[in-house]
Amino acid sequence: MDQDRKMFSGNWTCVKCNGAITELPFEPRDTSNLMCRECHRNSRGDRPQRNDRRERRTFTGNWSCSDCGTDINELPFEPRDTSNLKCKDCFKKDKGF
Ligand SMILES: [Zn+2]
Ligand SMILES: [Zn+2]
Repeated sequence: MDQDRKMFSGNWTCVKCNGAITELPFEPRDTSNLMCRECHRNSRGDRPQRNDRRERRTFTGNWSCSDCGTDINELPFEPRDTSNLKCKDCFKKDKGF
């Protein structure tokens, strides 16, 4: 929820696609250079970073596998229930690989 975000309404035109712009998240100083949301997004050329960035977090700890008792020092997720952890091998087995 961003209720704090003020929207400015007006009657502008997108310089790229000539589409009408009726709302902007900012008050435009230079109205000759306005872009609608889509053109703005395209001009910046950034894609959603969620999928692009494959930053894998690993959580380190001192757990043990509930199945074979082997030590687990790293997990790709933060375990909520540590009584039910499985090492990679047992996890695979469990999934039927
Ligand atoms: Zn546009
Ligand atoms: Zn195991």
